Amino acid sequence: MDSYVGPPASLLKPLSIPNKVLLGAGPANCSPRVLHAMSLPVLGHLHPECTQLMDEVKVGLQYVFQTKNPVTLAVSASGHGGMEMAMCNLVEPGDVVLVTVAGIWGKRAADIAARYGADVRILEKNPGENFCLRILESALARHRPVLLFLVQGESSTGVYQPLQGVGPLCRRYDCLLVVDTVASLGGVSVQTDQWEIDVIYSGSQKVLGSPAGLAPISFNSRALSKIESRKTPVSVFYWDVKHLSNYWACSGEPRQYHHTISSTLVSALREGLAIIAEEGLERCTARHSACAKRLHNGLRGLGLELFVEKEDARLPTITTVRIPANLDLKALQDYAMKNYAIEIAGGLGPTAGQVFRIGLMGYNATADKVDLVLKAGPPTGYLQPPSAKISSGLLWAREVLAGWSLRSSVSGGMTAGHCLQQAFLSGLKE
Ligand code: PMP
Repeated sequence: MDSYVGPPASLLKPLSIPNKVLLGAGPANCSPRVLHAMSLPVLGHLHPECTQLMDEVKVGLQYVFQTKNPVTLAVSASGHGGMEMAMCNLVEPGDVVLVTVAGIWGKRAADIAARYGADVRILEKNPGENFCLRILESALARHRPVLLFLVQGESSTGVYQPLQGVGPLCRRYDCLLVVDTVASLGGVSVQTDQWEIDVIYSGSQKVLGSPAGLAPISFNSRALSKIESRKTPVSVFYWDVKHLSNYWACSGEPRQYHHTISSTLVSALREGLAIIAEEGLERCTARHSACAKRLHNGLRGLGLELFVEKEDARLPTITTVRIPANLDLKALQDYAMKNYAIEIAGGLGPTAGQVFRIGLMGYNATADKVDLVLKAGPPTGYLQPPSAKISSGLLWAREVLAGWSLRSSVSGGMTAGHCLQQAFLSGLKE
């Protein structure tokens, strides 16, 4: 039998990547400055220029996390790597770990903790809600965990979890606090030291404005003491904070090879962090809040309903919008992509089929992008407000045509009905 495998035809064609506006739940678009950084020469993973970049990323991460923790670095992985690294280092078999679950990310953390042998206890809330201190305290008193896990920005539900007061509570119950900020860091206030968070991690591809591939993480001295006193070794070499903090020169000892970091990704994250440092964290978070407000007002103006009822529980970076009964989400997404090259995400986990999600993060958190996404829906009457000048007869006709168009665009392409409707609607514009 001939075992030769020939060069694949797909690889012999020129590379072509469309330019999309990534307004889903992440990744977000990178700025031209970050894209330029990625076109610079590749460096060796221990070259002085590369380690200099790593040092700059480290101080940038201390800034965005608002921490003086020496053990602050970016592990070579997507956001999941931060979750893995936190659990792998902190959890020993039999440890009671309390995980708050109100969306997919708590569930994922519970799964990961269990794989490291944790006795996982779940504190659950309805998707769309967050946890108050009283409920957290009664769960801590009941379960007496060694670790409490919270997600600051639950991207599957669009919920913001306040963290003030949780750290001191955890100290009172002799428990470590681990926080996921993959979808929130840089877009909302994060005060790692002030809020007494023991381990905090994030991802590079959302507000931080670079591609996926690096997971920022920071450990304080309480977390490091727990790791120091482990009875069993950290079970995965790649996630071991002792080795990684040496490679990132957090311990003051000479750097040693741990793995081959991508200098390209480090350059990109360095630039993403530099952009935030130049803007200033406070201005950056204020920009995200202002964009979220503009989007929420616009969506309400279009007759759409936000999934998260309480205003102060809404995550500024990712907005969840209830799918109206007569809106075909697939048609909406296809329309936005085909006509505006905009990505709009569907729901995830508990919100699948219930919401669509709009992310405004980093380079994409601008008024222009908000206005663009507000006009990117199909002309169904849901993402374009009915004009006051349209009579009820015309409105009825528009609804009929809209339904026709949506059904036909689901089954594929631009049909005569769709064209007719487009022409009809453009005629209605003043
Ligand atoms: N946590 C949260 C809150 C997230 O939003 C995500 C990604 N959407 C992750 C963890 C996992 O990150 P990644 O996909 O980069 O592994």
